[in-house]
Amino acid sequence: MKKFLIAGNWKMNKLTAEAAAFAKELKAKNFSNADEVAVLVPFTQLTAVGEGLAGSGIGFGAQNVHFEKSGAFTGEISVPMLEEIGVNYCIVGHSERREYFGETDETVNAKLKALIEAGITPILCVGESLAVREAQGEQTFVAGQLVADFNGLTREGAGKVVIAYEPIWAIGTGKTATPEQAEEMCAFIRGVIGGLYDNDLADKMLILYGGSMKASNAADLLAKPDINGGLIGGASLKIDDFSAIVDAAAQLK
Ligand code: PEP
Repeated sequence: MKKFLIAGNWKMNKLTAEAAAFAKELKAKNFSNADEVAVLVPFTQLTAVGEGLAGSGIGFGAQNVHFEKSGAFTGEISVPMLEEIGVNYCIVGHSERREYFGETDETVNAKLKALIEAGITPILCVGESLAVREAQGEQTFVAGQLVADFNGLTREGAGKVVIAYEPIWAIGTGKTATPEQAEEMCAFIRGVIGGLYDNDLADKMLILYGGSMKASNAADLLAKPDINGGLIGGASLKIDDFSAIVDAAAQLK
């Protein structure tokens, strides 16, 4: 049976009371596929969301982390700090972090290694800009990101990573990649991972699509063979919108 992960990226949204209420409502949905659902929330809402989801099977996690365990890194949050809260997931290399906060493939690689060592599942984001796609360079670009991001990861470590293909031109723009475009790149990513490791590992890897996924387009995207779910921004902020995407995945089981 195809495995999915439907992951909501709240970005910098929701104060604690709203976050806690959302977690409670999400738990109350009793999704049949709860163990294939997660929310990635601001650091300050992790504890409330973790408590609200406890016992639901739904995962939760952070949107970023520092790769050092501790030290003079003012304003940063370490992997042991996330471990202490009991998070299941952490986004790494989101395009907004690459674009606005100086995230590089080197820091992404270090973060992947630190999270894997701690048993927290990284959700690694890759994806090209509009200019790169218009120049038909998207596969070369994404392959380059993958080679750099997985540099030095053992087969066992690589097998813990979830990849999210997020074309930058589709994030928060309302412009979704067509199911065919998304499938083509997710299949390509699976091939790159197969080349870096082996096909058995690549076949088992969860590869998500992200970029304006919503209730109205989720089923078509999720039905594609190489798309194992979604990383969802805007549509993850409203319980009904997010639940509809979770239900779309459940119906494809
Ligand atoms: C995201 O930022 O991960 C994302 C996919 O956002 P949106 O769904 O709003 O395009």
